[in-house]
Amino acid sequence: MRIDVVSIFPEYLAPLELSLIGKARQDGLLELNVHDLRTFTTDKHRTVDDTPYGGGAGMVMKPEPWAQALESIAKSGMTPEDGAAKKPVLIVPSPAGERFNQALAYELADEEQLVFACGRYEGIDERVIEWAAGHFTVRPMSLGDYVLNGGEVAVLAMVEAIGRLLPGVVGNPESLVEESHSDGLLEYPVYTKPSSWRDREVPAILLSGNHGKIAQWRRHEQFRRTAARRPDLLAEFDAGGLTRADKAAF
Ligand code: SAM
Repeated sequence: MRIDVVSIFPEYLAPLELSLIGKARQDGLLELNVHDLRTFTTDKHRTVDDTPYGGGAGMVMKPEPWAQALESIAKSGMTPEDGAAKKPVLIVPSPAGERFNQALAYELADEEQLVFACGRYEGIDERVIEWAAGHFTVRPMSLGDYVLNGGEVAVLAMVEAIGRLLPGVVGNPESLVEESHSDGLLEYPVYTKPSSWRDREVPAILLSGNHGKIAQWRRHEQFRRTAARRPDLLAEFDAGGLTRADKAAF
């Protein structure tokens, strides 16, 4: 997969050189390029913002630097001759976007190329979003129902969630299967050695060696925890998809 990120604070994306995502880049599993929006300006102050039409507080990101940046990425990207038939996906982080979640992480992990446009101030001139549809599949996307200062933190979270799903990035792919949100429920609690710690014991079933009973206990804990912490998820859970083992666990 190739990922391009455009930002006025390219240094903000430095953590993507660390840990599993950094290693995936070194191993050639992920190509990630960070672009400074200011290099696509033409004035001596390298201006990227201006006052909003209609008045109001704050500044708005000017359209032309964005068009220059996105055009250059589109040109340098994977053309149909390279075998990529689809347009790259342009993700525009925004609190007014579709809510990002694990299902979207899986969907986006199947793409050849993702481009992230990090807004600042009051956001990007809306005409950029309309114009970009000629080059990209445009997806305004929100990290959650709160407002950040810029898109960079949202990009760090989304790239990590997507990147860890790419083949070879997480050493044992089995560990992706039973995670929270992989099947609509939260994960069960986990424990490690020692079995007794500060007067607290690991649940005895986990020491029993009975794998059938352990699986049943874990499934029960998934339901219990989801009901307690995220009843909204449980309400959405497809009860028709419950297995016989699930019914026994719940
Ligand atoms: N005026 C905008 C609004 O109310 O919708 C908020 C602008 S915010 C201060 C600046 C930038 O931060 C946005 O353009 C976006 O890139 C990013 N941002 C803020 N909150 C976000 C969120 N919840 N998810 C994704 N990006 C966010």
